[in-house]
Amino acid sequence: MSNNQLKQIFFPLLAAASSFSLILAFSAKGELTQQASKLLGKPPAPQPVQNSDAKPNGKLVAQKDQAFRNAIAKLEQEVKENRLTFNIPKQFKSQVLEEVKLNNSEKVVALTFDDGPWPDNTTQILDVLRENNVKATFFVVGQAVQAFPQLLQQVVKEGHAIGNHTWSHSYHNFSPEGAKNEIERTAAIVYETTGVKTSLFRPPGGFMHNGVVDYAKQRDYAIVMWSADSNDYRRPPVPTFLHSVLSSTGPGGIILMHDGGGDRSQTVKALPELIADLKQQGYRFVTVAELLKMREKENQTTTATQPPNADANSQAKISQKN
Ligand SMILES: [Zn+2]
Repeated sequence: MSNNQLKQIFFPLLAAASSFSLILAFSAKGELTQQASKLLGKPPAPQPVQNSDAKPNGKLVAQKDQAFRNAIAKLEQEVKENRLTFNIPKQFKSQVLEEVKLNNSEKVVALTFDDGPWPDNTTQILDVLRENNVKATFFVVGQAVQAFPQLLQQVVKEGHAIGNHTWSHSYHNFSPEGAKNEIERTAAIVYETTGVKTSLFRPPGGFMHNGVVDYAKQRDYAIVMWSADSNDYRRPPVPTFLHSVLSSTGPGGIILMHDGGGDRSQTVKALPELIADLKQQGYRFVTVAELLKMREKENQTTTATQPPNADANSQAKISQKN
C-alpha cells in the first residue's frame, strides 16, 4: 500500500474520529471495520445480523471494540512508518539515478530541493507545495538541520520525503572515515529531529569521486542525481528558471532546485508557475521514494546512469552545480 493511499484514506478519517464515540458510530455500521480490514489485507470480520428485537450483546460489542482499536493502532503505526521511512527497492540500492521512467512514459515528475532547511525559503516553498497539493523531496544538510530543526520537522509533518545531502556540504576530498562522518552524522540528526530514516542520498555539487558517494553506495543508498536543473543558485529571472526546467523535463524526471544555501526568492517566485505548467501538461508530482517504488512495481528497465563524470566534459558540467 502506498504512503499516499494510506494518507488519503486514514489521515482524514483519524482526524475526524477524534472521539472514540465517533469511531463506534462508524463501527456500528460496519463500514469502517470493512475498510480497515481491506487496508490490512484481511477479510472483514463477519458482521452480526442486526435484529431490532434483540438486546445488545455486551461481549460481542466489547470484542468488536477491541478488534477495532487494534486495527486502528496497526494502521496508525503503518501510516507512521510509511511517512517516516524512505526505503528504496532492492534494485536501486547503490545505483546512480538521474531519472526513473515508468511504464507507458507515465507523466510523473519529482521536485527536489537541496541544501536546507533554511529560514524563510523552506517555509515559503512549503506554502507553495501545500497550496498546490504537491509532495516533494528535500535533500537536507546536517548542519542546517542542527541550526533549524523545527523547519525540518515542518517539512516532515507536511508529508514530504527526505534525503541525505551530507553534514557540511563540502566539495573537498574525504577520507573513508570523513565520508562516513558526513553521512552518518546527518542520518543521526535527521532521525533524532524527526524520526525519519532515509536511503536517498545526493552528493553536494554532484561530485561523484570525493569519497561520499563511495560510502553512500557501501551503505546501499540510492544516489539520486537529476535530469532537469533549474540553475536556481544563479538566481535567474523566472522565465529563465522555467525554461531551464521545462525544456529538460520528461516523464520520470527529477528536477533540481534549492531551498537552502542562500537567497532562493527566485525559486519561491517561479515554483507556482512551474507546478501550474507541469500540471497543465498532465504531470503529477511524486516524491523520489514514491517514484522508485512505482518503478519497482512495473519491473521494467530503469534509466540508471553511470556516474556523470565518466568523461571529463560531464564532470566539468556537474561540478558547477550545487
Ligand atoms: Zn547541495
